[in-house]
Amino acid sequence: MISGLLKLMRKISEAIAESQDYSLVLGRIVNLLADNLEVDVCSVYEFDSKRQALVLAATHGLNPDSVGLVSMKPGEGLTGNCYSKRAVINVSDPEQHPDYMFFPNTGEEKYHSFLGIPISVGGKCVGVLTLQRCIKEEFPTPVVDMARSLSPQLANLVLNAGVLTTLDRGVAQAQEPERLTKSGSKRLSGSATNPGVAKGLAFKFKVRDLFNEIEHTNHSDSDTELEFFDEILKQTREATLELEDRAVSVFSEADAAIFNSHLMFLEDKALMDMIRGEIVEHRHSLEFSIVVAYRKFERKFLQMDNAFFRERLVDFKDVMLRLLENAKFSRRRQIDSNANDTSTLGPGEGKWILAADELLPSDLLRIPLDNISGIVCEKGGGTSHVAVLAKALDIPAMLGVRNLMQTIKDTDELLLDCHSEKLYINPDKSILQQFSDLEQSKEEAEDESVKSGEAGTSDGGKVMLRANISLICETSLLNKYGADGIGLYRSEFLYMIREYLPSEDSQYKVFSSIMKASKKDSITFRVLDVGGDKHLPYLELPHEDNPALGLRGIRLLLTRPDLFRPHLRAILRAGVFGKLRIMFPMVANLEDLLAAIEMLERVEEELHRENIPHSEDYEVGIMLEVPSAVFGLDSLIQHVDFMSIGSNDLQQYMFAFDRAGYISERNYNAFNPVFLKVISGIGECFRSFPNKSLSLCGELAGNPLATPLLVGAGIRELSMQPRSIPMVRRVLKKFSVRECEDLVDRAIGMSTSAEVVIMMENIVNAKGIEVNQGPVIKTKTDPNIKIDAVPS
Ligand code: PEP
Ligand code: MG
Repeated sequence: MISGLLKLMRKISEAIAESQDYSLVLGRIVNLLADNLEVDVCSVYEFDSKRQALVLAATHGLNPDSVGLVSMKPGEGLTGNCYSKRAVINVSDPEQHPDYMFFPNTGEEKYHSFLGIPISVGGKCVGVLTLQRCIKEEFPTPVVDMARSLSPQLANLVLNAGVLTTLDRGVAQAQEPERLTKSGSKRLSGSATNPGVAKGLAFKFKVRDLFNEIEHTNHSDSDTELEFFDEILKQTREATLELEDRAVSVFSEADAAIFNSHLMFLEDKALMDMIRGEIVEHRHSLEFSIVVAYRKFERKFLQMDNAFFRERLVDFKDVMLRLLENAKFSRRRQIDSNANDTSTLGPGEGKWILAADELLPSDLLRIPLDNISGIVCEKGGGTSHVAVLAKALDIPAMLGVRNLMQTIKDTDELLLDCHSEKLYINPDKSILQQFSDLEQSKEEAEDESVKSGEAGTSDGGKVMLRANISLICETSLLNKYGADGIGLYRSEFLYMIREYLPSEDSQYKVFSSIMKASKKDSITFRVLDVGGDKHLPYLELPHEDNPALGLRGIRLLLTRPDLFRPHLRAILRAGVFGKLRIMFPMVANLEDLLAAIEMLERVEEELHRENIPHSEDYEVGIMLEVPSAVFGLDSLIQHVDFMSIGSNDLQQYMFAFDRAGYISERNYNAFNPVFLKVISGIGECFRSFPNKSLSLCGELAGNPLATPLLVGAGIRELSMQPRSIPMVRRVLKKFSVRECEDLVDRAIGMSTSAEVVIMMENIVNAKGIEVNQGPVIKTKTDPNIKIDAVPS
């Protein structure tokens, strides 16, 4: 079914690419669906908010003259009920159904089975897809599943058409034409979103400014310019379809719908007519006409009240830039046959570090990345599409690097160290030497680690080193870096790379692949942790002044069974393929935990009743990231099998420190003696519960300076970015458990984070371990602090 579904999605994308306007697209899509799903009738009803009614927008099989005429109120007839109840209706002999309503002149009396699927996206229902057949039989499950899976793609199509219609209306009223209008050895900081070290020449990706770079130029012949436009449009459409294919091959989770909105923009008649109008009426060149149209639409997007529509600006910008680039480079090639676009689209031979002000998802999919060894960017954070792509591509990346573009020059030599979150510009010889020593020792360590299997201390103390992952494609890193399974699967990325809620089945597909990837080792599935800094625009959550303290993680899920239930069903169903551990994030009290467990048990019973295979021997745990959970550990622990310290959030809530706010100080508090005392206290508490396990899965787990302290605090499971595993494994081998315990005791007795960091740096240096990473040591650190390494 999956390959059939993907093929069908692909065909829908092609239909969008090839049709001239929205009603034609819909017409082609209903024909396609009817053919591929082998049904007699396929219709789309759209909800018209002005008429407050569902209106037949396209049909294959019913009387085509009824399009636009047949309508019903929500709750009227089977279709109206499907819409108002947001429920799938699958019936044979629909005429006998109490909700049935007959619409004369549609010709539907010949059909004796009916399937209605709500067309919805992010909780927003925009219409109903109906399928009908002559035979008197309910629709089989594969057809129902397939139609359900297509519903978000259709919803996006309807919504994007809505965006354009709204914009077109606004644009038609807007009359006024738019007026357009370096270093020694330096260091910059940012926020590493994928670990690793990379060296290369700066490749400054400048495409973001293209709208401002195009100057006002006129053409000499409208017909030739219009022909040129048609050619560019065709090229851009083809390139967009190729991008979609690449996205699917890079992200296993991605579905073909991601670039559908891009195709929709390219097909929008009003938008394309506006560009043509600029060419014909104002004699503007194609490039300048695209810029004028972009500016007009951009303003409209920014004025929109609805956040969902506003968010579409990024996609719109992405498409219009591609159109503009194609025009610009084709023109250059026409004038100068030697001109090529590699200087803008990709670097030449050698190793390069891609540097940009802002990157859009499609940038990373189309720039040839073969020679790119690292990515640095001024904008963007850990959950941005660029961060996700960098992970998928296993490229070290650091985002949020302030003043990046004004500080570096093209072909500057760059050294990116994502461990210490530093970018060195034209580093001097000593830094380069350190880097090459580190690279060499790391390679040796990696070889050794993969061969040696189990990680442990010098005296044989066993420590599990697990991986934090967010994407299916990262599962290949488990073997590469020798991980003992997955200690944190951040399920929210599955939701973040989409623009709509994934269905239970599409979650199940992704989760099953994750489970299958790590058969022998356990996989800790963290249930959806959104809210706070992890924003999902399509959930339309209420505005909160302090989102980090509001509806986040488990609190959000407990208020939204419509999200929680299918999510848990998908996890439990996928659990049959491996050793499942389910973890609840942001638990602050016993009430929340008990409510979450109750929901889990209810879902399990439901699956049991429905005879659907699911895991029955999973473990349940929580993240320790809210101080009240740490204080309430004694009572919470009675109800779980394991706990995992979320040091990122625990720091945030303990030190009242916004984790997204002060990037350069991130992770610093984790070395604070008070924090270490709390971690140690948790470890101590777990000693009384030998059957329960404790891990730590925040960024601190992958910081080799912290490794001995965490082991000393009694933690024997660390979960980190896969790339960090070899280094942590190497550090572990140099310390005995006893040494680790002494170190944490010493650290707890200190006064500041700086003292602890310096002690740890001294000791790893004394042991000859090249780590070249660790927390940021603020310049205000007292240079007079001298702490000796503990003699081993
Ligand atoms: C944490 O808070 O430490 C954690 C691992 O969760 P996240 O960073 O995903 O919030
Ligand atoms: Mg967290």
